[in-house]
Amino acid sequence: CGIIGIVGTQPVADRLVESLKRLEYRGYDSAGIAAQVDGVLERRRAPGKLKELEKVLAGHPLEATTGIGHTRWATHGAPTEANAHPHIAGRVAVVHNGIIENFAELKAELIAAGRVFSSQTDTEVVAHLLDSELATGLSPLDAFKATLDRLSGAFALCVLISGEDEVILAARNGPPLAVGHGDGEMFIGSDGLALGPFTNKITYLEDGDYVLATHDGARIFDATGQEVARAVKTVPASA
Ligand code: GLU
Repeated sequence: CGIIGIVGTQPVADRLVESLKRLEYRGYDSAGIAAQVDGVLERRRAPGKLKELEKVLAGHPLEATTGIGHTRWATHGAPTEANAHPHIAGRVAVVHNGIIENFAELKAELIAAGRVFSSQTDTEVVAHLLDSELATGLSPLDAFKATLDRLSGAFALCVLISGEDEVILAARNGPPLAVGHGDGEMFIGSDGLALGPFTNKITYLEDGDYVLATHDGARIFDATGQEVARAVKTVPASA
């Protein structure tokens, strides 16, 4: 129910949790974060309050500067650790708000292709689909677009790809998503409030937009795949 992504230059785990706390008002039943450590995707997840995730992190720190985080409001699958986001398949870690309406047919297709699922969520199909597209040799951006074209429903997504350690991909199709512009850092969040601790320069995505965020900035594309310019707004400081 809340999304945060950071391509950063400072330790990311505490920043992700801090931002998720600002999204608490939306309600949630579990939480998690993912990052890559030496090119390998790692995640920490916990059912319950953010305090539980913080306890997990205290015992097993996640040391990285780029990562994604999520608070979940379960729609498909019970609020367990296995169903908590981020979901990982191969090279892909994904967090998702909303519902993938056609997940059942996509899941059947992916299982027929030999994919093994480890959750009951609709979200996990996105990780497997994107990993499959990457495996055909497509670039992260093209693989992401090919994946988005298969999805129906209302969703916001934020993605990490192993081996692409300074990149975050995100997409908006329904639920709001904001891009925050920092100094050599970029942020993705469910709303401006989530980005308050990091920047007050915000771009609000339009429906159908998807984004490639790096240390150098964010490239935004519309639903047709056309690169577009979206306004950067300076919002009142909320930190
Ligand atoms: N449909 C997804 C799930 O049940 C995402 C729910 C959400 O928006 O938090 O895991």
